[in-house]
Amino acid sequence: MKLSEINNISGRTVVVTGGSSGIGLATAECFLAADANVAICGRDKNRLNLAYQELSSKFSDDRIFAKLADVTSKEQVEDFAKSVIDNFGGVDTLVNNAGQARLSKFADTDDLAWNEELNLKFFSIIYPSKIFQTCLEKSPSGSIVCVGSLLALQPERHLVATSAARAGQLNLIHSMAQEMAPNIRVNSILIGTVQSGQWLKRFEADKNSGNDYDAWLKEKALTKGIPLGRFGKPEEAARAIYFLGTPLSSYTTGSTIDVSGGYSRHVG
Ligand code: NDP
Repeated sequence: MKLSEINNISGRTVVVTGGSSGIGLATAECFLAADANVAICGRDKNRLNLAYQELSSKFSDDRIFAKLADVTSKEQVEDFAKSVIDNFGGVDTLVNNAGQARLSKFADTDDLAWNEELNLKFFSIIYPSKIFQTCLEKSPSGSIVCVGSLLALQPERHLVATSAARAGQLNLIHSMAQEMAPNIRVNSILIGTVQSGQWLKRFEADKNSGNDYDAWLKEKALTKGIPLGRFGKPEEAARAIYFLGTPLSSYTTGSTIDVSGGYSRHVG
């Protein structure tokens, strides 16, 4: 069988949470380019509208659906899921991508911050996965891909709550993979540093950044010692998500793909 036949996802439906920026937006574009239908959500109306406009300038708008939804709100995810199913009739791939990191050390992370971070990292996976589960089970290629972080395995001091939450999240994802097999495959990618909305915000907040975003990113990559010498691009993360979210990876579940430019210090 030809690779293009295995990989024919024309007419299948992909949900990307946090699809209005960065990795999520690049993922939406990647699946649209493969002829799938794509539904995205996010919290900021303006950002979501801009993303919808960008996608519909390149692809037929009857294959694109966008709706405001905060993934930490069960009601909003239920409402989003109902609209997606009304619109496309079913869902084949769920990409749990929405989220952001929290910069803080143990000494300055208060109880509220711990609660917010643990809530985001766990319920951004739990609500969409539970709510779309029945629908994914009906698909011939049901798949969940979670966008995680290398911090799960390699914590950093200035990201203490995010690192701990990512470790728990990865553990949860592996349990889901066991329980949802054989109907739904569940995998994740572990990101190191990918240039996105989050990094642009950090650049803008850095008073010593100067004006050149590219030079700032290059400097950060060198300081960190990323072996490939640069930040990843959102589309490079999207291609790994694409592999895990399509029948290309039909015998892979409970697995992770490292997208860190060699920053991982682990064997295996
Ligand atoms: P961006 O800031 O570019 O994109 C984040 C997206 O998630 C936006 O669309 C944002 O929209 C949405 N989002 C955030 N919180 C919520 C929420 N509660 N409900 C719904 N949507 C939400 O960043 P990235 O592309 O970098 O982030 C994508 C994922 O990758 C995140 O989970 C991030 O933590 C993870 N990651 C990224 C790394 C990197 O180096 N870029 C490193 C490790 C992990 P809005 O704000 O409008 O809701």
